[in-house]
Amino acid sequence: MNQLFYTVINYLDIVGIALLIITLIPLRKLMHELPHGSIRKLWQILSGMILFFIATYIVIALQFRTQNDFSSKEIVCIVLFLGSLFVFLVCILSLQTARDIKRIYTLEIENITDPLMSISNRRHLDQKLEEEFSKAARYGLAFSILMIDIDRFKNVNDTYGHDTGDIVLKKLGILINALIRETDTVARHGGEEMMLLCPLTDGHHAAWLAERLRCEIEKCVMVSSDMEKEGREILVTVSIGVAEFSSDVFCVTDLVKRADEAMYQAKGEGRNRVCVYGNSPYITETYS
Ligand code: GH3
Ligand code: MG
Ligand code: MG
Repeated sequence: MNQLFYTVINYLDIVGIALLIITLIPLRKLMHELPHGSIRKLWQILSGMILFFIATYIVIALQFRTQNDFSSKEIVCIVLFLGSLFVFLVCILSLQTARDIKRIYTLEIENITDPLMSISNRRHLDQKLEEEFSKAARYGLAFSILMIDIDRFKNVNDTYGHDTGDIVLKKLGILINALIRETDTVARHGGEEMMLLCPLTDGHHAAWLAERLRCEIEKCVMVSSDMEKEGREILVTVSIGVAEFSSDVFCVTDLVKRADEAMYQAKGEGRNRVCVYGNSPYITETYS
């Protein structure tokens, strides 16, 4: 029994090497599962360190095997084995943590994204709106919002079907996202209505941006002929209302109301246009 115990201990370093070779599997997976964002670099450093540990342990264990005159062989075997077990466990736990972080990241994105249009959802919009409004009110910063509504969208649904209407909404989300700055937030306000938040942007510049969006949307073929059963292209236009934060706007609701009013003014004036709240009569900016 005693003899068997010592034999097992004497081979623990070899078991350790096998364990470390097995560790390469979760380590390789860890390299692929690394979460996005600023901590990605730290994860890469950790993976590199684990790889270094594995290589060092294997070299030490093999060197030790060739030195038979070692007095406390059993202790070194146990230490090497525990070292390899430690690296193995760190690697497994790191992989699990990386997967959890990735899952949380995906859930976080899903939590604030509209699944159809791939832009921010109403919940995220309300949060950002409060945030940006507070910043503007507190520090006296410029802040503008755009209310964007598709013109006669019901006709698109009635003529081509709801599924095609959905494709149009999807494409519009991608288009607007591509046209705005990273600091701006575009969100689905409801139905076929979107809101764009433009921090550090005054009414004049917001109107210019709105007109630019209107022009680009007007030109963009939303559904191409090969997707369209009747062989026709779908083009849509939008009406946009612009409202700027000012000292007489006391809450978010007031600002949204102003943008809404300006948007309905644009509808009333014939659609496919931009109206800015605050100037009487409303002005329509031209983008060229
Ligand atoms: P207006 O120029 O006055 O805005 O006309 P409109 O037809 O766009 O306005 P209205 O509010 O009468 O209709 C909005 C339409 O948007 C009706 C609704 O079916 C459609 N809609 C809202 N949400 C979705 C959606 O998720 N998918 C599709 N396909 N259609 C939607
Ligand atoms: Mg509409
Ligand atoms: Mg609408």
